[in-house]
Amino acid sequence: MPNTTPSYTSPDASVPGTTRITVLSGGVGGARFLRGLLHLFRGAADVPEVTVVANTADDIWMHGLKICPDLDTVMYTLGGGIDQERGWGRTAETWSVKEELAAYGVEPTWFGLGDRDVATHLVRTEMLEAGYPLSAVTAALCTRWKPGVRLLPMTDDRVETHVVIDDADQPSGQRAVHFQEYWVRLGAEVPARAVVPVGLDAATPAPGVLEAIREADVVVLPPSNPVVSLGTILGVPGIRDALAATEAPVVGLSPIVAGAHVRGMAEQLLDAIGVQADAAAVARHYGARGDGGVLDAWLVDERDAARVADAEAAGIACRAVPLMMTDDDATAAMAAAALELVGRR
Ligand code: GDP
Ligand code: CA
Repeated sequence: MPNTTPSYTSPDASVPGTTRITVLSGGVGGARFLRGLLHLFRGAADVPEVTVVANTADDIWMHGLKICPDLDTVMYTLGGGIDQERGWGRTAETWSVKEELAAYGVEPTWFGLGDRDVATHLVRTEMLEAGYPLSAVTAALCTRWKPGVRLLPMTDDRVETHVVIDDADQPSGQRAVHFQEYWVRLGAEVPARAVVPVGLDAATPAPGVLEAIREADVVVLPPSNPVVSLGTILGVPGIRDALAATEAPVVGLSPIVAGAHVRGMAEQLLDAIGVQADAAAVARHYGARGDGGVLDAWLVDERDAARVADAEAAGIACRAVPLMMTDDDATAAMAAAALELVGRR
């Protein structure tokens, strides 16, 4: 067992009067937003307590290792270990393990398994096999990375998103592949016919998740993927109800700018679930809290200013501001605009 105690607590935990911000996050989009949010408060007298509920439906078992891409992206990004250019994985990464596995002809060979990253997966897998839940393992990994937030997986249960694609060799004409295979091996270049989060219906929120939503002063949906990142978090039974019931306002930021995703494959997956790749259409998909949905407020990019009225017609307060996370200052300004829109700044 690694000599780590799974008892990580957030900085400023339970300091009276501290603003509690809960962010539901995917990988790269969510992590970059979080870095901007922390940047906004750097050196301030009133540093908030930030809890991150991260998507775990991208997780995959590979070569005997449990890999949690979104948790690791948040942890490495906020802990200073991320490869900035790639947006995921470790800085100064090498790929000997991947090359050696390929030399043995061991499948799959398409996944970006870096040597430094493997150490994280080894520690995680060892702890899981010793009986620790993923939430405790994540806390232990964070004792090294000190991300400056309390990082929680959405659930300790196994959930894996699969994507249904066409396959003429199958009697049904279709087959399901793991989300990682759809994205990494296939480059999201074949049509996604359906998105199936296997295990989601039976999952339970990880310890602390519902409390973090209920007891927050504000809940933020960063510009993460609405289908495979935030869609799966919202699909964990109990999380939608907690969002409906919390006294905190819920504000989101659009990952769709001028009718397209900024990076990734949100367009393809929105199409698979019948939602237009449009900033207001995504807001309507989340829905107004007053109308059974999850949003009180929504930011769209300034290029989508003409879409504000459409989101507002759905009962969601909306504003158009620059929404490109080009650097920490620009991202901090986005975070500030989100907090201002719901009167939390
Ligand atoms: P993933 O798990 O690594 O795919 O990351 P997330 O789900 O957290 O975020 C992916 C989403 O972030 C994509 O749909 C992108 O469109 C969005 N995104 C990435 N960079 C930006 C940006 O600079 N501005 C906005 N508004 N969205 C962005
Ligand atoms: Ca992801």
